[in-house]
Amino acid sequence: MGAKEGFIKYKRELPQSRKPEERVQDYNEIYQPFDGEKLNNQAARCMDCGIPFCHQGCPLGNVIPDFNDAVYRNEWEEAFHILKSTNNFPEFTGRICPAPCEASCVLGINKDPVTIELIEKHIAEQAYEKGYVKANPPKSRTGKKVAVIGSGPAGLAAADQLNQAGHEVTVFEKDAKVGGLLRYGIPDFKLEKWVIDRRTAIMEEEGVIFSTGTDVGFNIKAENILRNFDAVLLATGAQQPRELNIKGSDLNGVHFAMEFLGKQNQVIGGEIKENPISAKDKHVIVIGGGDTGSDCIGTSNRHGAKSITQLELLPKPPKQRTILNPWPEWPMTLKTSSSHEEGADRVFSILTKEFIGNEKGEVTGLTLVDIEWKEEGGRMQFEEVAGTERTLPCDLAFLAIGYTGPAKNGLLEAFGVETMENSLPKSKEYQSTNKKVFLSGDMRRGQSLVVWAISEGREAAVKIDEFLMGTSSLPKKDEGYYEVEEDMLSD
Ligand SMILES: Cc1cc2nc3c(=O)[nH]c(=O)nc-3n(C[C@H](O)[C@H](O)[C@H](O)COP(=O)(O)OP(=O)(O)OC[C@H]3O[C@@H](n4cnc5c(N)ncnc54)[C@H](O)[C@@H]3O)c2cc1C
Ligand code: SF4
Repeated sequence: MGAKEGFIKYKRELPQSRKPEERVQDYNEIYQPFDGEKLNNQAARCMDCGIPFCHQGCPLGNVIPDFNDAVYRNEWEEAFHILKSTNNFPEFTGRICPAPCEASCVLGINKDPVTIELIEKHIAEQAYEKGYVKANPPKSRTGKKVAVIGSGPAGLAAADQLNQAGHEVTVFEKDAKVGGLLRYGIPDFKLEKWVIDRRTAIMEEEGVIFSTGTDVGFNIKAENILRNFDAVLLATGAQQPRELNIKGSDLNGVHFAMEFLGKQNQVIGGEIKENPISAKDKHVIVIGGGDTGSDCIGTSNRHGAKSITQLELLPKPPKQRTILNPWPEWPMTLKTSSSHEEGADRVFSILTKEFIGNEKGEVTGLTLVDIEWKEEGGRMQFEEVAGTERTLPCDLAFLAIGYTGPAKNGLLEAFGVETMENSLPKSKEYQSTNKKVFLSGDMRRGQSLVVWAISEGREAAVKIDEFLMGTSSLPKKDEGYYEVEEDMLSD
């Protein structure tokens, strides 16, 4: 490793974000460019510690100390090859990963962790700029055909790997454009969509076939897919939203978060003219304190909402780790997203009781009550706090309380895939109860993260390759250390 004392010499530094009052005027990414030399210094903070816990922290097993060292030495091509060996899409994760790797960085024990995610983004962007990312079709074809259903990060990662293994891959996508929640869930201010187009153009050049606007089970029957392909991967996401079963949740103005966010991304992508749900001049209440809720806040602020309140059932987390949540666990601390910075009231330990409506069937208020959490019999239970019931004005409410599993539309049954009691499909090493059908991403593991979806897509691709060919030379996560050979680099 180059800099032995970088972690003493340099402080953690992130790029400046545009000012909240400026950025809420548009949907562009919020971060400003970061100076190259500063980035080398950030990479120099990596300590090359004996056991790099960041490897375990990253669901892809990214070889973080090695790419940090290459960036410190200004060897961007080498850094890119190291990163590419474990991650198909660092330009996505470098922008929107919650970076569990940073939570387990050894430097984080008593200092700020290395800015791993930022370094990853810059390696990817440098690689595109300098022309290291280019179409590299497989040298030979196996004659086997694979259908990938769903073009989210899991489907895309699997398609990329299977194509590299020489199979003919067709990705079926019901939406008009590929990307899944990368395109129709995550707002542009976190991930601009040209980033997806740039990648999928290369995949197409390499031979991956994209069939968009094709709803499998509706436009094309499962039996046709099973007949015409040697293997099938279902990567259809966890699209069944969790409902809030309280009185009034059927009133006009109460929506699942994705009804709002998906349409907004379609507006920005030029697919539709305006969002049928407008937050302009409205009292908005977001139910659910997670990332999706946060994205509703950012989008409502951009619409010009009158007020935004975010409700969370759980207590307010502490600012620092507690003794019960030590390093290298994921820190259960208070997270303030860029959307929170743009303005919203956050209320914790609160229970929704009832939506109030007017004679036209429109929501006008939400009745709430404070709750108190207590441990009873080893489990956390809550009790309502007497006398705290109140009604907040509410013209628009977004339910952002998660997803229960794959959409209940008969697709799994049509492919002969059995499910478990929790409605997730049964699988063993990514293979479903129909031996020809494999599963990956949110539809297999439940609602999760982009980095996990990419990891699942890669691992499922190995199992499909083994199923088709008897063996697979695709990289496996547990293979460990990766070394860049001289002939991989340009002259
Ligand atoms: C609003 C929101 C914000 C998020 N923000 C983040 C974030 O910042 N960082 C992060 O890491 N994760 C985030 N996530 C989670 C992340 O987006 C998902 O975990 C990830 O996209 C799952 O990938 P996937 O490929 O399994 O499924 P998806 O991305 O859901 O893709 C599934 C695809 O399958 C298609 N499909 C479904 N049925 C059919 C069919 N019958 N025929 C053809 N196609 C079909 C769907 O149209 C979709 O394109 C967010 C999620 C949401 C909802
Ligand atoms: S993919 Fe996410 S967890 Fe893995 S190194 Fe990148 S930022 Fe960290």
